[in-house]
Amino acid sequence: MLEWLGCATFRVRIGALTLFFDTFVDRIAAAEPVGVRSEEVDDADFLFISHTHLDHVLGADTIARNTGAPVVGSYETMRVMAACEVAPRQRWAVSGGETIHCGDGVRVRVLPALHSCLWAAGEEDAGAPCLGDLGVGYQERTGVVVEALHTLTPEVEAYLGAQDGRASRADGGQLAYLLETGAGSILLSSSAGCWSGIFRDLRPDVAILAVAGRPNLDGEPFQGSLAQFIATEVELLQPRSVAFSHHDAWMPPLPAVDVAPIAAELAARVPGVALVELALATPVAILAGRG
Ligand SMILES: [Zn+2]
Repeated sequence: MLEWLGCATFRVRIGALTLFFDTFVDRIAAAEPVGVRSEEVDDADFLFISHTHLDHVLGADTIARNTGAPVVGSYETMRVMAACEVAPRQRWAVSGGETIHCGDGVRVRVLPALHSCLWAAGEEDAGAPCLGDLGVGYQERTGVVVEALHTLTPEVEAYLGAQDGRASRADGGQLAYLLETGAGSILLSSSAGCWSGIFRDLRPDVAILAVAGRPNLDGEPFQGSLAQFIATEVELLQPRSVAFSHHDAWMPPLPAVDVAPIAAELAARVPGVALVELALATPVAILAGRG
């Protein structure tokens, strides 16, 4: 059973195993609650963290301490976990290419991925093409979006300040995860970015794709709309079905992403791929009938 806990956080239960993909459940008061807070989680076997931004890694320290589960993630995620005094034996640093054996025939492959281009101009309309920003040097890639987030409202600033040290302003190296079970496979991509050579022909049964921000394809801002980028990811991956993540209003007053243009683009370009709509905190048997 797969349960969407908002943003790009998922809890997956397979037999006696409980896996988290990202751990961001301690949301700001104005955001829709997801039914659980990190201090209430007492059951987890592995925590797979996509990157070290707050809206993904927050809560990993608490859940790791409460459950003893290892935190699998980038070296930046490990730096933060060490600063939060998560035990060394629970800090599993990966960078892509590793396979984590979870028991019961379940394994998780770690894939190098890319974060969306926080430094490049984006479009609020997922269907509107966004062009340019090519060839921008490292020195010019400043964290414009991250800074803007911190000064959004006094409530957001206070919330972020209260979490100081439990996440990073650096993504730390984006990772995607391919969950492989006896009943099928699920690809979890938690930011709008990928290396085309990594995603090509992966053919997961289900692809869960983050739909937010200016997409990043092979290290450059995608020249087109977010909807076109998601369709490109689906063409590369060739999954049987797709679900979206990161489109909810996880940090009000930031709005939710209107996914209608993305659904329309998928219907036009990859009509054979089913679109699964996930509801918050509602477990679904997303691999049912695929084994
Ligand atoms: Zn991020």
